[in-house]
Amino acid sequence: MADFSVAEIREMLQCEGQAQQELFDRALRLKKETVGEGIYLRGLIEFSNVCRKNCLYCGIRRENLAIERYTLTDEQILDTVRFAWRQGYGSVVLQAGERVSKEYEVRIERLVEQITTLSGGALGITLSLGEQTAETYRRWREAGAHRYLLRIESSSPELYRRIHPDDSLHRYEDRRRALDALAECGYQVGTGVMIGLPGQTTDDLARDILFMKGLDIDMCGMGPYVECAGTPLSERSLAQGGGTQEELQERLSLTLKMIAALRIVMPDINIAAATALQAIDPMGRLRAVECGANVVMPNLSPREVRANYALYDNKPLAFDSRILERCVRYGERGDSLHFKKKKK
Ligand code: SAM
Ligand code: SF4
Repeated sequence: MADFSVAEIREMLQCEGQAQQELFDRALRLKKETVGEGIYLRGLIEFSNVCRKNCLYCGIRRENLAIERYTLTDEQILDTVRFAWRQGYGSVVLQAGERVSKEYEVRIERLVEQITTLSGGALGITLSLGEQTAETYRRWREAGAHRYLLRIESSSPELYRRIHPDDSLHRYEDRRRALDALAECGYQVGTGVMIGLPGQTTDDLARDILFMKGLDIDMCGMGPYVECAGTPLSERSLAQGGGTQEELQERLSLTLKMIAALRIVMPDINIAAATALQAIDPMGRLRAVECGANVVMPNLSPREVRANYALYDNKPLAFDSRILERCVRYGERGDSLHFKKKKK
């Protein structure tokens, strides 16, 4: 596989009009030739908005006192998993704010074991529970979780610092180390970035793609940054002229180009069509599928808590079911082809 330079990726991210359509067509063609035409479903369960962190962009950050905090019970989580299983989902994703304690480690371990048992091991289990110790990751892996999503948010240490508080809970090096620990534990590792952050340049994004390539990731979930009212980053972004309809459309188009470029650089990985795309355009996720994404994650959390997992403004509460009219691979786990090839 050819090595790509920052300049080549920059060109992909800056193209417009006919050249952009050609980029999307090339990515779609490559997707079909490598991972196939199928779309894999992951049932997303956002089981708690309690978080110890204070990321400057996120609506469920610790210091946001305006939201009602919730945590689903084990039974509510397992009921949702059973629903997903009955509906033909091949995998579920357990996502939440970041928490760290022995009790929590044991709770997740037990839940993963119960999910494994209820589907006879057939249901894929992805976790997205932030930074944990290598030992915790190992226990959850042994319990049956086999994929983990941990976005680097930005591969630029400097930009990372500008979008997080400057304290020991929010260190770029720790996030980076956590990604290595996940790979060492044998997970299919997914990472990703936010696109359209204040102060982010096209070259930052081109380097994000090379970072993912360098890390040899198996999956990616990246989406547009979307302002969340009341968060420090949103105030900064609005002050710099961000967040207008026009600017959000640019972020959407840049995200689609990022997806296409990543498909071209890493043809055999799984790429998710992020929910945040749909916050900007009702067709956002569908458009991502048409330029390289092959995974969608419909939100299955109980309706009464969905609005409280408010990461950003206009977060969609329902899934655009037009995607389900596409080539959806019901009942298949849809493991990363890239990961399978590495294992051989
Ligand atoms: N707490 C875990 C973590 O941070 O890895 C998992 C849950 S966290 C809510 C999942 C992702 O939401 C983050 O990785 C971040 O990229 C995304 N997110 C948070 N706030 C966002 C915003 N304002 N716009 C777009 N994405 C956002
Ligand atoms: Fe917590 Fe994740 Fe939001 Fe950061 S992005 S505040 S870790 S939920």
